[in-house]
Amino acid sequence: MDYLRVTSEPDLAEALSVDGAVPLAGGTDLLVKVRAGVARPGLLVDVSRVESLRGLSRSQDGLSIGAALPLADLLGDAAVRDAYPLLATVLRSLGSTQIRSRATLGGNLANASPAADGALALLAYDARLTLASRAGSRALPLREFFRGPGRTALARGEYVHSITLPAPDANQAFFFHKVGRRRALTIAIASVAGLLSLEDGVIVDARIAAGSVAPTPLRLAAVEDALRGCRLDAALARAAGDSASREVSPITDVRASADYRRDVTGELVARFLSTALRASS
Ligand SMILES: Cc1cc2nc3c(=O)[nH]c(=O)nc-3n(C[C@H](O)[C@H](O)[C@H](O)COP(=O)(O)OP(=O)(O)OC[C@H]3O[C@@H](n4cnc5c(N)ncnc54)[C@H](O)[C@@H]3O)c2cc1C
Repeated sequence: MDYLRVTSEPDLAEALSVDGAVPLAGGTDLLVKVRAGVARPGLLVDVSRVESLRGLSRSQDGLSIGAALPLADLLGDAAVRDAYPLLATVLRSLGSTQIRSRATLGGNLANASPAADGALALLAYDARLTLASRAGSRALPLREFFRGPGRTALARGEYVHSITLPAPDANQAFFFHKVGRRRALTIAIASVAGLLSLEDGVIVDARIAAGSVAPTPLRLAAVEDALRGCRLDAALARAAGDSASREVSPITDVRASADYRRDVTGELVARFLSTALRASS
């Protein structure tokens, strides 16, 4: 296996056009797989020194995050933490201090694990991706990026350049909870991230993302649709939990059964809405 460190996007795009070449960002997923023998890339193209992939810029349209910006740097930005509290909450629970100093959002997304925590927050914020290659760049809603476990919409030679979040809404309630085998450094058995906008007790917008309960991280679109325009009360919270259990399609594996994952997802969605109800009354 060869290793190449690039410092510019033209060099990155050129290097990735070679058969068997893959981007290496923090390495916290990829190098674990290489060591375990489940990934054998011909060429690791280290993107961590490409400055244009490590940017963080704000505009009236929102926030653009470089795909190779370490999570610790993102979390270190007080304005980001204030404007996107769900993202900050999720990232604080991702790995450890050491992992966050290396790991990136580009890696979290491109690894395409159904359990990817960063993906949940970004899905809830309706993130858009900029993907780039030698052929140019294109924008893609994150919702269209995941194709299955370990599979994405990235074409051969393409890389994630940046992630854009729309302008923040200061009045949104937010929620994140991950159920794992232990409190820290755990892979989710099931997880839910949500954003909720209420006006006079009526739900004007609900965005709920769930992890480890389908082949990809996903938004619970049917639950969201059913919530919009309804007055939030305890019965609605319970009913939304029940429909969340029905909307997911988990598998049984060494960490938990499919039934348990369904139940947990329903509980978390109901808890999210009940907490928002209590906070609003
Ligand atoms: C101890 C430990 C704890 C962890 N805890 C969590 C956790 O709590 N929650 C969680 O979600 N994850 C966790 N992870 C997984 C991992 O840390 C994250 O998924 C991380 O965000 C991966 O980012 P990275 O930069 O290290 O990616 P890498 O390992 O460098 O890359 C991962 C994949 O993405 C591709 N890639 C990287 N950058 C790009 C790019 N710009 N464009 C296209 N493809 C790209 C690589 O080719 C590879 O296929 C943990 C890992 C470890 C080892």
